[in-house]
Amino acid sequence: MQALLKELVAIVGAGNVLTGDVVSQRRTDWMSGAPCRAGAIVRPADTAELAAVMRRCYAADQPVVTHGGLTGLVHGGEAAPDELAISLERMTAIEAIDPIGGTMTVQAGIPLQRVQEAAAHNDLAFPLDLGARGSCTIGGNIATNAGGVRVIRYGMMRQQVLGLEAVLADGSVISSMNRMLKNNAGYDLKQLFIGSEGTLGIVTRAVLRLQPRLASEKTALVACPDFDGVTGLLRHLGRELAGGLGTFEVMWRNHYALLTEESGRHTPPLPPRWPYYAIVESLGNDDTDNHARFSAALESALEAGLIEDAVLAQSDAQRQGIWDIREDIEGLIDTLAPLFTFDVSLPIPDMPGYTEALERRLLQRWPEGRVVVFGHLGDGNLHVSVGVGSHQPQVRREVERIVYGPLAELGGSVSAEHGIGLEKRDYLRLSRTPEEIALMRTLKQALDPRGLLNRHKVLAAE
Ligand SMILES: Cc1cc2nc3c(=O)[nH]c(=O)nc-3n(C[C@H](O)[C@H](O)[C@H](O)COP(=O)(O)OP(=O)(O)OC[C@H]3O[C@@H](n4cnc5c(N)ncnc54)[C@H](O)[C@@H]3O)c2cc1C
Repeated sequence: MQALLKELVAIVGAGNVLTGDVVSQRRTDWMSGAPCRAGAIVRPADTAELAAVMRRCYAADQPVVTHGGLTGLVHGGEAAPDELAISLERMTAIEAIDPIGGTMTVQAGIPLQRVQEAAAHNDLAFPLDLGARGSCTIGGNIATNAGGVRVIRYGMMRQQVLGLEAVLADGSVISSMNRMLKNNAGYDLKQLFIGSEGTLGIVTRAVLRLQPRLASEKTALVACPDFDGVTGLLRHLGRELAGGLGTFEVMWRNHYALLTEESGRHTPPLPPRWPYYAIVESLGNDDTDNHARFSAALESALEAGLIEDAVLAQSDAQRQGIWDIREDIEGLIDTLAPLFTFDVSLPIPDMPGYTEALERRLLQRWPEGRVVVFGHLGDGNLHVSVGVGSHQPQVRREVERIVYGPLAELGGSVSAEHGIGLEKRDYLRLSRTPEEIALMRTLKQALDPRGLLNRHKVLAAE
């Protein structure tokens, strides 16, 4: 590797090939905080430098792992000592904003929050939003096809990308920087890279789709008497807000109670006595209209018995107080550690049966265990957190079998939005057919025949 590193220094400069303690002092994984084990970290400044780096790596048969903000939750950024990490931390430029076409062209290492802020500064919005917004990068969002809290209104990252550029394993550059909403000239190649978790190419630039900025955003926390209330409320708000439903996030009581009364971490805006709590948001352009429409929709939901109680945030601080409960992942880790987290999707009507059976089976096996559930319910996506007092790999396997086992029969997925990485690789077959997996292997072979990009991630070695 030393000879190769010398060649890479000639491309990116000595200060941008990091080795030794500087590498191990960096973390590789948000959840565990484990140190980075890569042989070196290479930090190109732009696509041309990255392409030159990959040409050298290809010639030397050198495997690489791409690093964005390292907030991924399935160990996709893990690198072995014989691998190089390619960090996009220097590629953070906003190249252009087109307010008429509603696009922003960026380098892929830019943090999501900077894109949101730049869009707002131009009276536009970039609607992808998630708790890791300050650290995660657009390249990572593309590579994982990130979801978040606005999917019900705007779709996942895939829907926010008009074009992109990627460097392939051999250093060739695929520039597919389309800026139009419509372009049916042959295969839509960008889709190959969105959600492929860095296994088919390294995303270097992207054209993002911006949306009109809506001036009014109203947030409420509501309590539902039962799951029929939750699903009834989802339909009710979808109809009453006429396309303005921006968020529908649900916390099971076990999650809401743990992070409020039980741990004392947050003051509960509503007492934790009902089975389900939903954070719902209404988006609109006129604040008075939006407030009136949202209040009326919540009132009629109350009258119809879909909800038991509601708090409509009256200030940014109140709104933040509600979101802080939902986004307190550190709180979950602190209170349930050692903790296993899962991100699954399944048809919404099957959710109560699935979570009840899950809790029953886990508590039968570990009577002292804890299971808490929350998620982007409107998207069919649940996050399940399980604490059974052990972090041993064989215990995790046992828990995984209980969590993932029922999903195939329900037509669910072992990964709703976090991807497969290393963590879920052995369970991919529960959510994809043998033919689908064979086609994935064909694509991998075509784009990365030497298997240099994010080795062993998503697809296990045959
Ligand atoms: C507090 C918290 C909340 C979160 N909430 C959500 C949520 O609501 N919804 C959601 O979907 N996710 C969520 N996540 C997960 C995570 O933030 C997303 O997966 C995010 O998209 C990862 O971006 P990143 O830049 O940190 O990528 P990284 O963690 O650096 O990388 C993730 C994967 O993408 C690859 N990759 C990174 N950059 C590139 C690139 N330029 N080209 C090719 N491959 C690349 C990496 O090799 C790795 O396999 C959350 C994480 C945290 C810590």
